[in-house]
Amino acid sequence: METTRRASQGFAIQIMTAIAIALIIAAQAWALWRSYQATWLLETRSAENTVNSIAANIERNLNVIELSLLGLVEAATDAAVLALPPDLRNRVLFDSSASARYLGSMLVLDVDGNIKFDSGAFPPRVANLRDRDYFQAQMKPRAGTFVSLPFESRIRNGDVSIALSRQLAGPDGDFEGVAVATLRVAYFKTLFEGISLAPGSIISLIRSDGTLIYRHPSTDGRGNVGFDLRGSNAFRRIKEHPNIPFQERSVIDLVNRYYVHTQIASYPLVLSIGISTSEAMRSWYRQLAISIAVILGTIVLIAVIIRSLRLALARSVEIEDELERLSLTDALTDLPNRRAFDLALHTEVRRSARSGAELSLALLDIDHFKRVNDQHGHPVGDEVLHRLARVLLGSVRRPGDYVARYGGEEFVVMLPSTEPDGARHIAEAIRRNAEAMAPSLKDAGLRQITVSIGLATQSFKPGDRPEDLVRQADEALYEAKGLGRNRVVAHGDRVRDASALELH
Ligand code: GH3
Ligand code: MG
Ligand code: MG
Repeated sequence: METTRRASQGFAIQIMTAIAIALIIAAQAWALWRSYQATWLLETRSAENTVNSIAANIERNLNVIELSLLGLVEAATDAAVLALPPDLRNRVLFDSSASARYLGSMLVLDVDGNIKFDSGAFPPRVANLRDRDYFQAQMKPRAGTFVSLPFESRIRNGDVSIALSRQLAGPDGDFEGVAVATLRVAYFKTLFEGISLAPGSIISLIRSDGTLIYRHPSTDGRGNVGFDLRGSNAFRRIKEHPNIPFQERSVIDLVNRYYVHTQIASYPLVLSIGISTSEAMRSWYRQLAISIAVILGTIVLIAVIIRSLRLALARSVEIEDELERLSLTDALTDLPNRRAFDLALHTEVRRSARSGAELSLALLDIDHFKRVNDQHGHPVGDEVLHRLARVLLGSVRRPGDYVARYGGEEFVVMLPSTEPDGARHIAEAIRRNAEAMAPSLKDAGLRQITVSIGLATQSFKPGDRPEDLVRQADEALYEAKGLGRNRVVAHGDRVRDASALELH
C-alpha cells in the first residue's frame, strides 16, 4: 500500500515536471514566433518604404528630363526657333536642360544620326549616333519616350549613361530626327549609396528587358551595369508579378534574399530591394539562441531540483522505514519485539481463519534466569538472551515461522500451518538446542542454560480471539515450569497430577 502510494506520488511529480517544462517551452516558442513575425514585418516594411521613396525620387528626375525632352522636340520643330541666329537658338532649345541633376547632354540628331544641335557645345560636337538603340527605336512611328540600355558616351569620355529619346516629326509625320537626353548612371550610384542598407541587402534598377542598370553594392565595384538578368529566377518573378514580394537566391552572389520591387511610373524600369533573409533575422537568431540556452538551463535546473527533492524524499522514506523497523525490533536480540509479534499474530490468525489451517505457538522461558544474572552479572545475562535468539532463529525452518522476544527472558515462536505434533517436534528441537548451546563466551563459568516451553495449537474461526492462543501457551508454560523445567508441555497434555507440579 505504502509503496504504491509512494510510486504514484513519484509518478505525479514526473508528470507535473513534464507539464511545467512543456509549458515553459510552449511559452518561449510562442514568444519567439511572435518576435519572429514582428522582426520580419519590420524588415520587410522598411524595405518597402525604401523602395517606394527611392522610386519616387527616380521618377521625379525622369519626369523632369522627359519634360525637357518634350520641350526640346517642340522647339526643334518650330520654324521660328529654327530661324533664330545659332547661338540664340541654342539657348532657346536647351533653356530647361540645366534643371535636371546628372543630365549628361541633350542632343538633336538628324535623320542620319548626326548631331544637329548640342546642349553641351556650340558648334555641336561631331558624332554619328545612328547605331544607338535610342535612335533606332525612334525610327519607328509613334515610338513615344524610349528609355535606352546603358551605354558609354562617345562625346563625354565614355561616361556611362542611359538616354531618353523622342522622335522629331515633320508637319506630315515624316521622320526628321531624334531628340535625346542622357542621364548619367552616376546619378543612381549617388542615390543608392546614400541609402543605409543592412548588410547583405542590395538595391537594383533593372530595365524591363532584364538588363541591370545599376546595382548597389555591386560585385564589380561599378554597379554591374549591363548585367543580363534574363536568366535569373528573381527577374522572372518580377516580370510575372510586378507587385508581389518573393524570396530568391541571387544569381550574382548566391545570397538568399527577400525582394520587394516596384515599377517606376510608366517607365520600363523596375526598382528592387533584396534584403538578405539571414541578415534581416540576425538579431532574431541571437534571441533564439539565448532562448534555447535559457530553456535548456531551466530544464537542467528543474532536473537538478527534482533530483535532489527525490533524493531527499528517498532519504526520508529510508529514515521512516528505519524508525518503523526500530519501533518493531528489540534492540538487545535484534528479534521482532512484542508489538511486532502482536501484529504478526493478528495477521496469522486472520489467515488461519480464512484457510482453516492450524496455528501453533510456542512460549519459551529461560529457566532460573534470575540466578544467571545474580551469579554471572547482567551483561552475561544479556549475552545469553542474544545467543539464545540466534539459536531460536536457527531452529525454525519454514519461511512463515516467526520468532520474537515476548518480554524479559521470554520468547515466542509462531508456527503457521503447523499441527500439534509438528509443533512439539520443533519445540523439542529448540529445547535441545538451547541446552546444547554455549550460553556465554564472556563467562565460561556459565556452562548451560535450559528453557521451558509451553505449546498451544488452534484452528481459528472467524471471531476467535488471538489472545486465547497466547493464554493457552502461557498455561502450558506454567505447567512445564511446574513439572520441573527444561521441558515442553502442550496445552491439553494430560499432566494434571497436582502432586507432580513443582511450584515455585
Ligand atoms: P524460572 O525458571 O521460574 O523462569 O526462573 P527465573 O529466574 O527465570 O524467573 P524470574 O521471572 O523470577 O526471573 C526472570 C529474570 O530474568 C528477572 C530478570 O533479572 C531477568 N531478565 C529479564 N529481562 C532481562 C534482560 O533483558 N537482561 C537480563 N540480563 N536479564 C533479564
Ligand atoms: Mg519469566
Ligand atoms: Mg525464567
